[in-house]
Amino acid sequence: MENPTQKKGSLPKLYCNIFGHSYEVTKQVTHHVKEYKCKHCNRELTTYSNGNLVELTPKFKEINTILNRIHSSKQARLKNRTYSEPSFH
Ligand SMILES: [Zn+2]
Repeated sequence: MENPTQKKGSLPKLYCNIFGHSYEVTKQVTHHVKEYKCKHCNRELTTYSNGNLVELTPKFKEINTILNRIHSSKQARLKNRTYSEPSFH
């Protein structure tokens, strides 16, 4: 018995292999860090601290959530005083 939904799943990946991924920004974490998702195969990437794109693993999602929280609170604090940025290495 054939399952048509299974066949459908391989098409977006094939499309990406030929034309490349079509990433769109799904989340602005900080000014420099963003999360991306491919419209065709749903592959997720994020900006790493060195500016390169890396696979968005659960670990990076966690880091980005923390970064975003710090970024938001920093934006609020900046109005009052300067605040030194903690490093995540
Ligand atoms: Zn893709």
